[in-house]
Amino acid sequence: MNHILLNPGPVTLSQRVREALLRPDLCHREPEFADLQYTIRSQLLAIYDLDPARWAVILLTGSGTAAVEAMISTLVPPQGRLLILENGVYGERISKMARVYRIAHDRFTLPWGAAIELEAVDHYLETHTDVTHFAVIHHETTTGRLNDLESIGRVCKSRGIVLLVDGVSSFGAERLEFEPWGIGACAATANKCLHGVPGTSFVIVRRDLLPLSQQTPRTLYLDLASYCREQDQGGTPFTQSVQCFYALTEALAELGEEGGWRRRHERYRALLDVVWEGFEDLGVAPLLQRAAMSVVLNAFHLPQGVGYAALHDHLKNNGFVIYAGQGGLAQSIFRISTMGAIAVEDMRRLVAVMQPLLRV
Ligand SMILES: *Cc1c(COP(=O)(O)O)cnc(C)c1O
Repeated sequence: MNHILLNPGPVTLSQRVREALLRPDLCHREPEFADLQYTIRSQLLAIYDLDPARWAVILLTGSGTAAVEAMISTLVPPQGRLLILENGVYGERISKMARVYRIAHDRFTLPWGAAIELEAVDHYLETHTDVTHFAVIHHETTTGRLNDLESIGRVCKSRGIVLLVDGVSSFGAERLEFEPWGIGACAATANKCLHGVPGTSFVIVRRDLLPLSQQTPRTLYLDLASYCREQDQGGTPFTQSVQCFYALTEALAELGEEGGWRRRHERYRALLDVVWEGFEDLGVAPLLQRAAMSVVLNAFHLPQGVGYAALHDHLKNNGFVIYAGQGGLAQSIFRISTMGAIAVEDMRRLVAVMQPLLRV
């Protein structure tokens, strides 16, 4: 049975992307690979209209966490200080990275799902003038909360602080204004809103923020500066996941033909409309207000008297894979993601197959 994946990546692939995996074998030292890599870097910059003279795409072989870790470990200089917004699992993961790399850092910790208050951040920065970089998760997949990057960016910009964004679960489907919001770098992945396969992730970085080659990096494999130097020449320091590249370039072509991130945003919202309407009738309540959440993933309270395992298994038997809550939310919520080759019809069927379980 081919399940419809409602988890936030890996996604349900389109047939077109799946077939791209079967293209000819390719050595990553051949000109065909250089062309493929060049095409993908250009396609990724085009999504948010970024100028290649000012912005570099660095392609990595690894999951989204590799891109986030490369961004954090490469871009905070030895004398820098990183502030990290924590309001979910992924913000907390960046703090773990800072500890591992012994990067001087502070944590701005909120309850999971809570909204960030701008005055509080501004006050924090006013009284901690040694902060040079601020790491923020755009879409906290833990809860579905879309953090207000625009306002956070404005505060950072006014203070000359570099904004480092984990856009892993928003890139390609939510608004991201790189220059106006003062974004210094954004980490993302092939297999979430871009609908590629897992294995390729990337960082889009303002070129002037990359460290100079004389500086000893904190990491060898995840050093963005050396990747950038080689990729600008058509090369790669290490073997890349060639088949994932094939799938990604096809997925990006599909996104372009569909009408870019705005159309994908609308498509996801249409899927969620069906879910919200159906769940409301079934008495399934959302975790947060809709306006606070992304269109990529929403979290819902488990229905009264139905455990996660029972809900999961019932839906899986009917062809859908949903996603559990993490940590303290594991027993109380479930999550539905809209990413991937999913149609409005699929969401209607999801609502329909939930009905009998709730009519007890
Ligand atoms: C999925 C995700 C990641 C990375 O997860 P991987 O399992 O490493 O791909 C990082 N940040 C956010 C916000 C995510 O949703």
